[in-house]
Amino acid sequence: MSRPADADARKAVKPVICYPNDTLPKPPMETFRAARRSAQKTSEVLVPARDAACFHVPQGHFFRISSVEGPQVGDLNLWNANDLSERFYSGKTRALHGTHLTTGERMWSSFPHLRPMATIIDDTLDWYGMDSFGGSVHDVIGTRCDPYTGNLLAGSQYHHCCHSNLTRALAAETGMDLLEAESYVHDVLNVFMCTGFTRDTGQYFMKASPVRPGDYLELFAEIDLLGALSACPGGDCSSEHSSDTAPCYPLLVEVFAPEATALETWHAPQANGYNRSHGVSGDR
Ligand SMILES: [Zn+2]
Repeated sequence: MSRPADADARKAVKPVICYPNDTLPKPPMETFRAARRSAQKTSEVLVPARDAACFHVPQGHFFRISSVEGPQVGDLNLWNANDLSERFYSGKTRALHGTHLTTGERMWSSFPHLRPMATIIDDTLDWYGMDSFGGSVHDVIGTRCDPYTGNLLAGSQYHHCCHSNLTRALAAETGMDLLEAESYVHDVLNVFMCTGFTRDTGQYFMKASPVRPGDYLELFAEIDLLGALSACPGGDCSSEHSSDTAPCYPLLVEVFAPEATALETWHAPQANGYNRSHGVSGDR
């Protein structure tokens, strides 16, 4: 197609933010922080390198994902512990908060629920911001490393991708068979991963994560959660994933319970208010 005469003018139109941040309900961060100060640790799970593990976080409790031993990226799935059909919705979370999450932002659940599942209350990597390549940490733009893409691109049969790790962990936790468990695995929050899109070609890139042992991401559970975390075979994701070549380390998940009175002023998220008639009147 030939370039139209007004091409420059059309390209110069300024973008508008699809979902301005000031329209989102604000999380009560002071309440959460005060509750966290009184909280006591109740459990922990050490996720082995190149594998995944499940953990439960009751509504109103906190969970912390920590780097231990060495730089390591984690792929996080979350479900409503009482209804696994309600699960983390990476795409809508991206639309609401942008490509990477940090303190005060939320992990939102799938339709028809669309409510906060977890709110980030602390992020020791929040100093990173956005680097000169357009990279940042804790993205909701990647999906999860998986054996199907590896097979498509390289003909491989690699079994310790995050997708397979999460599938095995969920099957072991719930007693589902592998195929059923796989159907519940979904696009992740890439904890500690440093990613972006190249400015010239728009391609998805990764670079060595800035995470170091002792860094953590901490979240408040807005509903009863079942989580699964995979310690990605990419390690710090500085070179490649979908193989056993990168150095990999465990990740620690710890759960903390606040004092019973600490959340008295807090209101749990309600079901989404859309009436689900989809424009059809009368009985559905
Ligand atoms: Zn991975």
